[in-house]
Amino acid sequence: MTNRTQWPGDVPAQVVILSGAGLSADSGIPTFRGAGGMWENHSVNQVANYLTWKQNFELVHQFYNERRAQLETIEPNDAHRMVASLQASLPTHVLTQNIDDVLEKAGCTDVIHLHGRADELRCEACGHHWSIGYAAWDPRSDRCPRCPSRKGVKPGVVFFHEPAPRYADMHRIFRSLRARDVLVVIGTSGLVIDVNAFVFDCPARKILNNLEASEHINAGYFDHVFYDGAAAAAPHIERLVRQLAGQL
Ligand code: NAD
Repeated sequence: MTNRTQWPGDVPAQVVILSGAGLSADSGIPTFRGAGGMWENHSVNQVANYLTWKQNFELVHQFYNERRAQLETIEPNDAHRMVASLQASLPTHVLTQNIDDVLEKAGCTDVIHLHGRADELRCEACGHHWSIGYAAWDPRSDRCPRCPSRKGVKPGVVFFHEPAPRYADMHRIFRSLRARDVLVVIGTSGLVIDVNAFVFDCPARKILNNLEASEHINAGYFDHVFYDGAAAAAPHIERLVRQLAGQL
């Protein structure tokens, strides 16, 4: 090893990756706000609003049935593989806003899905939570496997105006970051999660990768910025993270 950074007590650097829809864009999953608040040709208000989802019950389930069907054939790209590779060799927390399972397909474990997962369902009537895999759910006839509820069954995705229980993990992990650590933010506009609020006084070394500048993220808060596709940027980001973490 050369150029290894020494820290008091020689505690290994931890790496935190916060990703968003842009991470999976190079795998063929469209991002969210790209077309002005539309998600796959639907208004997010119709398909991801906790206050109104029961009024759009069949449309909501149809939408997430389509998301699951799409996931079955999606392959990880080099950015997902880079995250898995870092996690395999450094203490790494993987946080994602994505509801897809592509980080897991790339080999990541213990991924914190801040906004839930498209391949899960939850019953609001009895609290049962289960994995449906890539299968479709028939909102006209299917019922919760634990109680008789039909209209209580909701996609396991965190909607707008709904509590996001895993944000507590995100806050805890961000608070734990120290100067020796490395934070990588990939493929998020910062519109849903206020990235600036976490990053501005975060003492870690900070890397940002988006396709282009976002009006919601202050790039000046980051030490290294890559405006490029995540798959193309991945080898450069991996090398930089390993350098900063003292592995190279
Ligand atoms: P967003 O759509 O608001 O922003 C996407 C960001 O990714 C932009 O900053 C853009 O510059 C960047 N980007 C686009 N293509 C990229 C690429 N090839 N490489 C690198 N960066 C790229 O995404 P968000 O901030 O994650 O918020 C969207 C919300 O919608 C999330 O809460 C998420 O749950 C949901 N969503 C999820 C998926 C998914 O699971 N794959 C897809 C769409 C939306």
